Amino acid sequence: MSKDHQVKAKKKLGQHFLNDESIAEQITNSLSFKGYKHVLEIGPGMGVLTKYLLKKETTTHVIEIDPESVEYLKNNYLNLADRVIEQDFLKYDLNEVFNNEPFAIIGNFPYNISTQIVFKTLEMRDQIPEFAGMFQKEVAQRICSKEGSKVYGILSVLTQAFYDAEYLFTVPPSVFNPPPKVESGVLRLKRKENQTLDCNEAMLFKVVKTGFQQRRKTLRNSLKSFNLSDNLKANTIFDKRPEQLNVQEFIALTQLIDNDINE
Ligand code: SAH
Repeated sequence: MSKDHQVKAKKKLGQHFLNDESIAEQITNSLSFKGYKHVLEIGPGMGVLTKYLLKKETTTHVIEIDPESVEYLKNNYLNLADRVIEQDFLKYDLNEVFNNEPFAIIGNFPYNISTQIVFKTLEMRDQIPEFAGMFQKEVAQRICSKEGSKVYGILSVLTQAFYDAEYLFTVPPSVFNPPPKVESGVLRLKRKENQTLDCNEAMLFKVVKTGFQQRRKTLRNSLKSFNLSDNLKANTIFDKRPEQLNVQEFIALTQLIDNDINE
């Protein structure tokens, strides 16, 4: 394949190529490039962000599932060739490359797997001090939203338990080829300094997920499956609906539940 041959956009891989250089540079610059030596770009496509990443002092690695994009990248970014991982981000064991060292994540992400990208990041949070990139706007807003907002949910609470989340700017469909049906939003996550929470973290995931499964109900109703004591259920926190609790309150609730179950 010739060097200039463009990758054909494949719908099933969520391919929408960004064609605005200044937005690409702005997204890249939302990382601080401090406190880690490696950056992993998810879904580089034809490298619109990658070329700006390669100017930084950190080492750029990219993970791309599409063989045609991989070939394009290897042909056009010769000094990146050894650091192109041709794999599915969701399935690949990243420590094959990073060896337990810290790395930041960046990307104009494939929107069909956005939620799973965030969950994998949360699982690997001990190694990921910073995360920046583009999702569909609604998902980016959800991740950054606060209690009381209509879009506040599982992703908001679990992400903000470990990261400070900032919605940076909105990007219109017209700057992509082909244009997506929805607007996009760029966000940045910076890991909080005190990484361990004052509660059982696995239990927090369970409480948040179960609570939001029925977001219109009180927690007394939605958390029935935990078989809590009547004494605990008399606590007024259970009168609330999940969207009314901030992250700290979810952590406190998790502590209460954990103590109750282990009594
Ligand atoms: N960053 C490029 C491409 C964005 S489109 C740009 O801004 O133009 C999303 C990219 O993610 C595509 O290149 C697609 O092939 C890739 N992709 C989709 N699913 C993936 C997965 N599971 N793992 C790694 N890359 C994936």
